[in-house]
Amino acid sequence: MAKLHFYYSAMNAGKTTILLQSNYNYCERGMNTLLYTPKIDNRVQEGLIASRIGLKAEAKPFDPDFNIYDDIKAENQKHKIHCVFVDEAQFLNKKQVEQLTDIVDFLDIPVLTYGLRSDYMGQPFEGSLYLMTWAEELSEIKTVCHCGSKATMVLRLDPEGKPMMSGNQIMIGGNESYLSVCRKHYKKGDTGVIK
Ligand SMILES: [Zn+2]
Repeated sequence: MAKLHFYYSAMNAGKTTILLQSNYNYCERGMNTLLYTPKIDNRVQEGLIASRIGLKAEAKPFDPDFNIYDDIKAENQKHKIHCVFVDEAQFLNKKQVEQLTDIVDFLDIPVLTYGLRSDYMGQPFEGSLYLMTWAEELSEIKTVCHCGSKATMVLRLDPEGKPMMSGNQIMIGGNESYLSVCRKHYKKGDTGVIK
């Protein structure tokens, strides 16, 4: 039976690398996959998922009005789809997470999603909230704080490296201005840099 999976983490835990490796494993066995990435993620060119260690794959960009269920249904009629991957899945909206559950339940295709649990203000993303609620399989991709404890939170840093606690939730651009830390150091705004 197909399942909806959500692999969640803080920033820079290697989510995209794991996604691309899993996709590679499917393709190597001659299976057809489809990859999706949000339009707002402009770290790389649109329609491409790229990891920090150099792996790359083509992906379909989605915006908030995009119906993923209809798209997969149409693609699956052209040729059988064996697995669906969604990168930066925190940017899905509630309706789109529901569409992913329909892909699993009515088309019997496994869906693997990868995303951040919370934003740098410590608030849940809409996509992650509903994936946490509706996915059968939740897996944490672990990463560590500068103190060695598990990092569960994300600090956004200004160009001087100081934490920012307000602003726009949407994260655009490179990873260099975000830092994964434990909850204690998140509360203290402690980046681990000695000044
Ligand atoms: Zn810490």
